[in-house]
Amino acid sequence: MDKREARQRIEKLKETINRHRYLYHVLDRQEISDAALDALKYELDILEKKFPEFITSDSPTQRVGGKSLDKFKKVEHSRPMFSLQDAFSFEEIKEWESRIKKLIPRLRSGQAKKMDYFAEFKVDGLAVSLVYEKGAFVRGSTRGDGKIGEDITRNLKTIQAIPLRLLEPKTCEIRGEVFIAKKNFKKFSKDYANPRNLAAGSVRQLDPKITASRNLSFMAWQFLGLNKQNEEHEELLRLGVRPVPGKFCADINEVKKFFEKIDRGKLLYEIDGLVVGVNDNELADEFGVVGKSPRASIAWKFPSEENVTTVEDIKVQVGRTGVLTPVAVLKPVPIRGAVISRATLHNKDEISRLGLKIGDTVVVARAGDVIPDVKKVLKELRSGKEKVFKMPLNCPVCGAKAEEDKGEILLRCVNQKCPSRRKRSLQYFSSRPAFNIEGLGPKIIDALLDQGLIQNSADLFELKEGDLIPLERFAEKSAGNLVRSIQASRKISLPRFIIALGIMHAGEKTAQVLSSRFGSLENIRKAGLEELESIYDIGPVVAKSIYGWFRDDYNRRWLDKLLKYAAVQNFKAGKKKKEFIGKTFVLTGSLSAMDREVAKEKIREFGGDVSESVSKKTDFVVAGENSGSKFEKAKKLDVKILSEQEFIKLLS
Ligand SMILES: [Zn+2]
Repeated sequence: MDKREARQRIEKLKETINRHRYLYHVLDRQEISDAALDALKYELDILEKKFPEFITSDSPTQRVGGKSLDKFKKVEHSRPMFSLQDAFSFEEIKEWESRIKKLIPRLRSGQAKKMDYFAEFKVDGLAVSLVYEKGAFVRGSTRGDGKIGEDITRNLKTIQAIPLRLLEPKTCEIRGEVFIAKKNFKKFSKDYANPRNLAAGSVRQLDPKITASRNLSFMAWQFLGLNKQNEEHEELLRLGVRPVPGKFCADINEVKKFFEKIDRGKLLYEIDGLVVGVNDNELADEFGVVGKSPRASIAWKFPSEENVTTVEDIKVQVGRTGVLTPVAVLKPVPIRGAVISRATLHNKDEISRLGLKIGDTVVVARAGDVIPDVKKVLKELRSGKEKVFKMPLNCPVCGAKAEEDKGEILLRCVNQKCPSRRKRSLQYFSSRPAFNIEGLGPKIIDALLDQGLIQNSADLFELKEGDLIPLERFAEKSAGNLVRSIQASRKISLPRFIIALGIMHAGEKTAQVLSSRFGSLENIRKAGLEELESIYDIGPVVAKSIYGWFRDDYNRRWLDKLLKYAAVQNFKAGKKKKEFIGKTFVLTGSLSAMDREVAKEKIREFGGDVSESVSKKTDFVVAGENSGSKFEKAKKLDVKILSEQEFIKLLS
């Protein structure tokens, strides 16, 4: 980015951040998440560090907190209440450490560079200052702009966790966080985006009764006037004030260990990271302040679910059924620890709904394990150079004309020999619910196709060790292993075989329905359209797709070839179990006694249904080892949870 572009970007970022701050602090409205706003501030901060000549005094990086409202009395803080710089990785924490360590010789000649730290939870709440005189709570205030805050004494007095009298008659100032427990936040989640907003909104109520009704809590992170941070925390406890959980760390690696051990799910309140600070307060003071943040402390934040980045290009992927899917090529950004460089845009309607252009700055999100997607376009950041994107009229891989599918939402490459469709079909063919060929990953499939060793999945079964060895990825042993696992997959159940065919709209459930209805592949092949349509669980679109698939010349030739190798087991129906009929199961974690796909097949065989996500309609969740969020959700929704043993008992 050149100077002129940097300046323009900085201006746009400032405008955008200020607008959202205004919405948030003054109008109590939130249009983008905290994580997204933080990401914008972070980008501005980085740019300003690179081009310090563009820093202005009104930049959002140059001030602390929000404006105080007029309805409360102003309070001047005895010492400024700072805000902290953010770090998002251990690398950044180490950089911070080496930055401040370099300052020591200048400050204290001859002193060793050994430094210890205090790390404590960064509670997601509102920072407040409490003043005690002779042990009595006399005044409480918000951070405000760091120098002047609002007097919210009356409201703070309603919070039970704040002692009105200390255990000793001390005159002192204590700082900490007003927050709300997760269980209390739930009922307000419609009105407030996060616990911090709720805490802020609650302590600034003019009527203390409202504040009292919110069940807020408090933990302290600072006791002014002591030499060491760990001593501050001990003093707080001694005075009867609950300190924020923290740990003395002899070096930065101990900080890392502490960070990695945090189990947020087990905490009763939300935290968004650790505050890491030099334990020695005197030294910390000597390090001084840069901008509005002390050098001696830093906030190490958890990676967020959202981030902001730019869309460098939009590419079109061709799936196994030929569907053209637009994908945003992103400037790489970390989200929840993983670097993201692609986000799905689903279809052309989604692009116009977002109003997305190439070059736009966007908010990207990643929830769970799903592919990240673009949540919002920040149009106010446009420079004018953004380009409109149009879905191509032809397949970008093979050049065949793309046809519009029903509803005109989807475009589809109808060329069955399309190389992209072939690759995806093969991936699907060898995936776990289908042929489950161990060791045949996407890269190997690409290599096999690119080298002309196979044309389609039927050719896989003719591969010999010698064919594979010349390929770059193969040593003799792994070539042998792959050939063996291909051969081992030849014996296959009817439902899995139908899945492997990749018939459009005919997924795992349809495969099961067809198998139990017809029993053999021959019967499914012969089935007429009317007969297929008459099946309760199969709709007319699916029926037509199945019927058409078996009558297509290309498919028929491929299927006949495939059947020379595959030994498809006929389906023995009629052994449904009443414990399973009409019941929906969700599997989570790993089962030790059987493959998950086998377990799914069994459930379907017995008349049950398998779903991927837990909802109120779920009847059983089968929890194997290391079950995660699905297990939690099942508990929350009161869904019956079966251990692996209980499940096996049910099967037998
Ligand atoms: Zn194509």
